[in-house]
Amino acid sequence: MINNKKYDVVIVGGGTAGCACAYNCANLGLTTLLIEKNNFLGGLMTGGLVVPVMNSSTCNLNCNYYNLLVDTAKKFNAQITYKDGNDGWFNPEILKIVLEEILTKPDIKKNLDILLETTVINSKTENNFINEIVICSNLLSLPIVSKYYIDATGCGEFSILSGCEILNDSTNTQQSSLRFILDNVDFDKFENFLYSLSDDEDITNTYRNDINTNNILSFTTASTWNESKVWKLDKFLKSGVQKGLLFEEDRAYFQLFSVAGSVNKVAFNCPRFTNYKDNPFMASIELINAKKAIWRIYNFVKSEFPGFENSQLSNIASQTGIREQNRIKTKYYYTKDDLLSGKKFSNTVLKANYGIDIHSDDKNSSMIQVSNSYELPVESLISYNFDNLFIIGKPIGVDFSAHSALRVQKSCMSMGEGVANYIAKLSKN
Ligand SMILES: Cc1cc2nc3c(=O)[nH]c(=O)nc-3n(C[C@H](O)[C@H](O)[C@H](O)COP(=O)(O)OP(=O)(O)OC[C@H]3O[C@@H](n4cnc5c(N)ncnc54)[C@H](O)[C@@H]3O)c2cc1C
Repeated sequence: MINNKKYDVVIVGGGTAGCACAYNCANLGLTTLLIEKNNFLGGLMTGGLVVPVMNSSTCNLNCNYYNLLVDTAKKFNAQITYKDGNDGWFNPEILKIVLEEILTKPDIKKNLDILLETTVINSKTENNFINEIVICSNLLSLPIVSKYYIDATGCGEFSILSGCEILNDSTNTQQSSLRFILDNVDFDKFENFLYSLSDDEDITNTYRNDINTNNILSFTTASTWNESKVWKLDKFLKSGVQKGLLFEEDRAYFQLFSVAGSVNKVAFNCPRFTNYKDNPFMASIELINAKKAIWRIYNFVKSEFPGFENSQLSNIASQTGIREQNRIKTKYYYTKDDLLSGKKFSNTVLKANYGIDIHSDDKNSSMIQVSNSYELPVESLISYNFDNLFIIGKPIGVDFSAHSALRVQKSCMSMGEGVANYIAKLSKN
């Protein structure tokens, strides 16, 4: 028998929320197993090339792991703090190493086993409990027993395999994106170009005064086809369409960030495409088309944006950027009204203020609806069907609009940390 350990906690999915949860469970003395299907940790933060972490308030609850991530990434030259104070600008590739560093520290490692390139193929349940799961790595299948199970798969795959109900409360969908990175961009030349255009400081800004960047330029800029928002780059994208370099839909959402710890890499938060949740054939066609769009955008910036002439396509995200997929029914159904009213709860896992952010397929309705501070109760992370199953990260039991605010990375990490604290308390009683 390779492993006949009984765990306190098994976490399925070693991404944004799962790593936070694993660290905190192990740190609190719970014997923990983290199962990840990729050969690296980090999920959308690494494989999805999703940078930066969105600023979502003062982060005064369940942010120990996030702060540790910032400090550790700093040591690997994989983090910068932007001029607005957001310290969540990470380098997605180096973060793979940073996460393993954090999760294999001796005091964590003694309580934490990590399985990479492993997934779950069966979940054995009785009444309202999950008793055992079967994992699969290469040709090996192995039963695993734990007191608590956590679905951190981003898509609710483990909950669905176990027989949980999915929330079926909305016909709305968020657009997906396939992110990519270009290398060998001349930042100085691009900055001069940006500042030769009219001013839209809220959307386009640059920064080079941070001590830990060694004065390397950082920047962010964007453009959308939403006519109510006219940003610096709009006219170039429109003329790109006229010249036949771009398709009209390539203008839908076009966003660029410099990459922390690099002097010449630019991360693109595009192209966007339709999220066919229930049709793998259409979903695959969209993914193939997304790569064609990446090739168009790459050639467009090379010819139209000073600084990109010698750029090279270096990464296409290995994980598709799906903003919203399956939300799982939980003990408390959290709504947009709870979020906007800042409703108070007794068992709170996070406090944040990131707004309602829907990437709509409707041309003029993409928006961020600002909100004040709100909190999320742990009951929205406990499965409705199984008392020893928690759901963290994207598949939580909240409505479509609330989800669009709660899905940002810092909140996902707080969910992981909050659930670890909650389970540690339950285990003591
Ligand atoms: C295109 C896009 C842009 C975004 N932009 C931003 C942004 O700028 N800032 C921000 O803060 N947030 C942003 N977000 C939101 C944020 O990145 C995600 O909502 C968040 O990272 C989700 O975390 P998660 O842990 O739920 O999922 P993930 O990070 O995706 O982790 C899920 C993990 O589970 C693993 N997994 C899945 N199934 C199994 C299985 N069966 N067995 C084992 N492992 C499994 C996956 O491989 C993955 O590692 C963006 C999201 C998208 C899609």
